[in-house]
Amino acid sequence: MIKKTAMITIAGRPNVGKSTLVNALVGEKISIVTPKPQTTRNRIYGIFNRGETQFVLLDTPGFHKARTRLGEYMVGVVRESVSGVDAVALLVEPIPSIGTQEKLLIDQIKASGVPAVLVINKIDTVKKEELLLVIDAYRQAHGFAAIVPISALKGDGIHALIDELEKFAVEGPPLFPEDMVTDQPIRQIIAEIVREKLLLCLEREVPHGTAVEVTRYIEREDGILELDITIYCEKDTHKSIIIGKNGQMLKKIGQMARQDIEAFLGTKVFMETWVKVKDKWRDNIAMIRNFGYKYDGSK
Ligand code: GDP
Ligand code: MG
Repeated sequence: MIKKTAMITIAGRPNVGKSTLVNALVGEKISIVTPKPQTTRNRIYGIFNRGETQFVLLDTPGFHKARTRLGEYMVGVVRESVSGVDAVALLVEPIPSIGTQEKLLIDQIKASGVPAVLVINKIDTVKKEELLLVIDAYRQAHGFAAIVPISALKGDGIHALIDELEKFAVEGPPLFPEDMVTDQPIRQIIAEIVREKLLLCLEREVPHGTAVEVTRYIEREDGILELDITIYCEKDTHKSIIIGKNGQMLKKIGQMARQDIEAFLGTKVFMETWVKVKDKWRDNIAMIRNFGYKYDGSK
């Protein structure tokens, strides 16, 4: 039974091995949602449970302490009272000098006040003596809560890393259903991608009243994924805005989302998108839970 959750930002320069690490942690092929600068919210890299703890891995922009609001923080990223992440895992190359990007990330970590674990990756490529120099250099740069050498590729040090991250878990119910089967986090992410497109394509007022649910998810034998996506909105007027003239808007949203979903999953996707009016869906707690949102009531 899940009694604790840990939200962890995985930070690090491109190519340092973030996706490889997330795959090693989550234990299946989950990688990154296409970057989208227009929205400020976190993206979910992966979710996994170990023992009593649920780990939610987020990508880099996320390490701000205590920010709430449904409009900015989506699926699973909003915790009831405190939001923000519990810790940052800063991934670095096994190089004994600190690069500009690492310096910037360390500055951000310092400014956020969020505890950080230094993860030195690719240790399979260096000798022990070199590794000690790397540890030394970073130890001087910041008061890391822990320094964990790993090889994400070979799977070395992964358990030690989970042990360290688990120390930042806070008590509380799972952010995602505990009995979630493996495709379930993927469904959440798919719904999130669609919502991201709604935010991108529509006037503010409309997408903020919407919720997205994957109402059909079928993995065909030929590897193609068949999806039905249902967008719930508050008013008939919103519904017609989302659908747009001759269905053009919905088509555009669907196409943009499909491209990202395909890139994210690495498979071809057949997708149908529906729009339904659900009156005052926000007030319906059960329904919000069903969507995977934790609504903090602050709006
Ligand atoms: P990201 O851009 O930070 O997500 O980095 P990726 O996970 O895509 O990895 C970039 C490259 O580094 C890939 O070629 C990985 O195979 C490689 N890589 C990741 N982790 C390790 C590791 O522990 N050892 C070695 N030798 N290569 C790694
Ligand atoms: Mg990557």
